[in-house]
Amino acid sequence: MAKDFYGELQLGILGGGQLGRMVIQEAINYNVNVHILDPDKNAPCRKLCNHFECGSLSDYDTVYNFGKNLDMITIEIEKVNVDALEALENEGVVVYPQSRIIRLIQDKGMQKQFFKQNDIPTSAFQLISNKEALTSANIPLPYVQKLRKDGYDGKGVKMIRTQEDLLTAFEEPSIIEEIVEFEKEIAVIVARNDNGQIVTFPMVEMEFNSQANLVEFLISPSTYSEEIQTKAKELAIKIADNLQIVGLLAVEMFLTKDGEILVNELAPRPHNSGHQTIEGNYTSQFAQHLRAIFNLPLGNTDTINTAVMINVLGEEGYEGLAKYEGVEDILAMDGVYVHLYGKKYTKPFRKMGHVCIVNADRELAISNARKVQKILKVKA
Ligand code: ADP
Repeated sequence: MAKDFYGELQLGILGGGQLGRMVIQEAINYNVNVHILDPDKNAPCRKLCNHFECGSLSDYDTVYNFGKNLDMITIEIEKVNVDALEALENEGVVVYPQSRIIRLIQDKGMQKQFFKQNDIPTSAFQLISNKEALTSANIPLPYVQKLRKDGYDGKGVKMIRTQEDLLTAFEEPSIIEEIVEFEKEIAVIVARNDNGQIVTFPMVEMEFNSQANLVEFLISPSTYSEEIQTKAKELAIKIADNLQIVGLLAVEMFLTKDGEILVNELAPRPHNSGHQTIEGNYTSQFAQHLRAIFNLPLGNTDTINTAVMINVLGEEGYEGLAKYEGVEDILAMDGVYVHLYGKKYTKPFRKMGHVCIVNADRELAISNARKVQKILKVKA
């Protein structure tokens, strides 16, 4: 598959946002023709792909018709019509990650059951069918309630601390989980190709913006002990191997205060916790994803330098045509790389871009990143 690099391979990506955009930047190097399906006619990939189709990712016919003449399909978002992908798979279109994996990961309840069945450490949980069922839950308050389906970036996650919070709990099928008193949120991105080769990226540490529930600040590589890093890496490998996934898998984890690692959730695609690999590592997550789905040898993931990634979010209080402040100032700094996602309109906390700050000196990388965070603003 895809080993004749004459620009004949037709690759479809479901979703045309920033992840698709960064995949395209790499796909150009492999002479691949990229087709994008996205519901937004102004999607970040619109002007960069060979063929753009505006349409729903959750509609069976739209996804099926988009894919039926393509060689291969991949995703940049899990919320897609999996039945259509399964039909395409049965008709010989290569779908990576495989539709059964997307189906599993779409449902946080099934994900948790998969962890349990495969001895993957994760927080205690219970499946909940509706709000009513919460009154007889086995997990005592406080706990976290998560919608089984369609949550993203913290939407679909609620902390239920008091009886009063129960009134505003989600009605739809959900899971409830014990609250983890974590020391740090960490992630390992792992890639697996069809030959079964598995390679992980070094573990990273994340800090979340609690208001927006988005990764605000990410440091690579982590400075936690070798033991912790190996444990996280081995878990990621075990999951990729159990799933027999082809493609990239981001494994989000909690490191608890007593050094235990609990897996929080999976994303079978390039992920926000791997953006720093573009400048910080020998192979970027986007290049690695393509190597994996094309069954090519996986690249060296070693870190070149400490890299700090910050998401550039729309400033609170501004909505409209995006205006960027401070770009020149941060570009005058050493080792600062700006990635804007081509989104015309900003709104509070919308991911408009990211900046990667690279430095051989870890402390300098961090302090420069804090400066960038103060200087760069997206307003309207
Ligand atoms: P999403 O899929 O929307 O990103 P997550 O499951 O990753 O949802 O949850 C979002 C954030 O909520 C996590 O990054 C973490 O900060 C917090 N969180 C989720 N589950 C727990 C938990 N069991 N204990 C403590 N915090 C949690």
